[in-house]
Amino acid sequence: MSVQLDKDAPVVIVGGGLAGLACANQLDKLKIEYLLIESTDRLGGRVGSKKVDGFTIDIGFQTFQESYPEPRRLLDPALLELTRFYRGLYVQGDDDGRSRFLLSDPLKYPGALADILASKLVTTSDITSFLRAISQLATKAKRRLASKEPTKDFLLAIGARSPLIKTVVEPFLSGVFIEDELMTPLSLAKFVLGRLLLGPSSIPLTGMQMIPNLLAKEINGEVRLSQRATSITKGAVRLADGTEIPASAVVLATQLSVANDLLKLGLTGQLSKPVGYFYFVCDRRPLEHPAVFTPSRNLGPILTVTTISDVAQSYLPKDSKGKDVHLVSVSTLTTEGDKPQLLVDETLRELTTLFGPEVSQWQELTSGVIADALPRQFGTTTIPNGNPEVADGIFICGDYTDTPSINGALFSGRRAAIALADRRHSPKGHFSPLVGG
Ligand SMILES: Cc1cc2nc3c(=O)[nH]c(=O)nc-3n(C[C@H](O)[C@H](O)[C@H](O)COP(=O)(O)OP(=O)(O)OC[C@H]3O[C@@H](n4cnc5c(N)ncnc54)[C@H](O)[C@@H]3O)c2cc1C
Repeated sequence: MSVQLDKDAPVVIVGGGLAGLACANQLDKLKIEYLLIESTDRLGGRVGSKKVDGFTIDIGFQTFQESYPEPRRLLDPALLELTRFYRGLYVQGDDDGRSRFLLSDPLKYPGALADILASKLVTTSDITSFLRAISQLATKAKRRLASKEPTKDFLLAIGARSPLIKTVVEPFLSGVFIEDELMTPLSLAKFVLGRLLLGPSSIPLTGMQMIPNLLAKEINGEVRLSQRATSITKGAVRLADGTEIPASAVVLATQLSVANDLLKLGLTGQLSKPVGYFYFVCDRRPLEHPAVFTPSRNLGPILTVTTISDVAQSYLPKDSKGKDVHLVSVSTLTTEGDKPQLLVDETLRELTTLFGPEVSQWQELTSGVIADALPRQFGTTTIPNGNPEVADGIFICGDYTDTPSINGALFSGRRAAIALADRRHSPKGHFSPLVGG
């Protein structure tokens, strides 16, 4: 049973991930009172870190793109204390996976282009096909079509069998999108690649949790942790313990699967992609540079391998200074039906192929699977006209309403708050979507 709409009640934000926090931040700016409830015991949702035996580990391999526009609006980079990855990518050097090649950014490292051409990973025919495919996207109509086209189709058009595609582009995009069929729309691939080219990839010295921590520090409204919403109506949010919180409006800032259940959005099929993660401790770094290694997709489940302690020494325990200790982060594909032990076995087998028998000396620090890692459905599929008000007084935000990224989540939170304020000022007004995520 729903309660009478209480216009003096606060807005209730359900979910304290980046979208919920960005929404709170914008509501503060708009001087609208709110209460944020979060089902777990920490803020940040999918962006987070924890300590395991003195090591800092991010919950899943994650990076921060310094060129993203939304974080720049909200976060002071100096306070984030970012440390950067090497501007380059390790790729597999042969079909067996026993050698690697480091592709360095030629704009940053003089001489890298000569190395890349000498590697034969990029041929002049690759460059010609690539330019031809790009020119086909040049007309407006084609660009519009291409934005919905799966990335795979574009890769086929530019010669998916070339070494460049098989060894570099496919594994890299699989690592970013957590999938190996590359059904992700080309528009998203272009956005992500563009941002990667525009600026460095980093992590905060104290772990990715620093991002939501800084956002949380800036907000003024009340935050309640460990409170799970079980139903939402126009004027109230009901919690798992039966409490009903009156709300002048509700902003649902959860993952897609939760929103689909609570709001009966009616989305069917697989809603999100899971990802596996492992952290290993070893005494010899498997990669010389603090760059990400994306092995080819023919060997096993591994998407990325990084000696994360070479990117941030601060991820190591304080007492490991001067010792040969390294922290290796590995992310893997997985499916819901996978048995945990099978994933462990396959990951160790592939690591042994890639780095040799010394992998048996690596100590597994922790591992896990994130079920709702990235939404499969997002953007105009989930909010066709860009209007986050899905029912009278109920708004949605979250990465699935924009792009599945830190940037998309933050943008969507700001958009929901602005739409809510607009609605208050002109209850029957025409909705004009905020563009920019
Ligand atoms: C392993 C991994 C790596 C990633 N790497 C990158 C990367 O490198 N770069 C990048 O840009 N993006 C990356 N992403 C994506 C990015 O992290 C997400 O797009 C973004 O964090 C989503 O934020 P959100 O607020 O929309 O959702 P979430 O972070 O999922 O927040 C939803 C919140 O709602 C809470 N909640 C759920 N149900 C309820 C309920 N019933 N009641 C109350 N609260 C509830 C949840 O606990 C959670 O805190 C990665 C994601 C993963 C999983």
